[in-house]
Amino acid sequence: CGIIGIAGRGAVTERLVDGLKRLEYRGYDSSGIAVLTDGHLDRRRAEGKIVNLEARIADSPLDGQIGIAHTRWATHGAPNETNAHPHQAGRVAVVHNGIIENYLELRESLASSRTFKTETDTEVVAHLVDVELGKGLSPQDAFAVTLKKLKGAYAFGLIIDDNPDEIYCARAGSPLALGIGDGEHYLGSDAMAMAQLTDKLIYLEEGDWAIIRPTSFEIFDEADKVVQRDVTVITGGP
Ligand code: GLU
Repeated sequence: CGIIGIAGRGAVTERLVDGLKRLEYRGYDSSGIAVLTDGHLDRRRAEGKIVNLEARIADSPLDGQIGIAHTRWATHGAPNETNAHPHQAGRVAVVHNGIIENYLELRESLASSRTFKTETDTEVVAHLVDVELGKGLSPQDAFAVTLKKLKGAYAFGLIIDDNPDEIYCARAGSPLALGIGDGEHYLGSDAMAMAQLTDKLIYLEEGDWAIIRPTSFEIFDEADKVVQRDVTVITGGP
């Protein structure tokens, strides 16, 4: 339902949770966060309100300079902690808005080698990318190859264990924007999510995907060609 991501130069957990609160107006049933701490993937999730997620984080703190977070509005699988995003498979954690229409077929294709832990349409995406990484593909190629297999509507944010500098994201049928900060870059499903981080946004176009790092970003179109997209300055401010 809502996505926020930060490729930062300072701690991100508190700012991600703040972004989730700004997305509450959209409605949700659970929430979660994943960060890279010294390059290592760690996540916390909770059913219900964001205060429940904050309690999890208070019990067991996590922080890092790269992170993604999500408010979920369940379409596939009960609204509980297990099905809350981010979903993790091996080295990969993903947050997703929308619906992967061919997820059953994709799950079936991995059934002999992979154990699925959730009932969601989303989890298969983390497995698909992890499988490609396991074959030796670079994160960029693993992400690009996976996108070509998906049918449906999506906005994604994705991070990879031991790949400490990058967030991968994509947009097809569900809105997603990049935010430009001072030595930082952001990702959000709407301008509200990033409102107190930046007023400079780049709305991804249909089929676009991108890699964001603290000090750089690259946007690709659906044919994997590097493209430039316009910067929009949001006036009125937070
Ligand atoms: N289809 C996904 C799920 O049910 C994402 C739902 C959403 O957009 O929050 O987990």
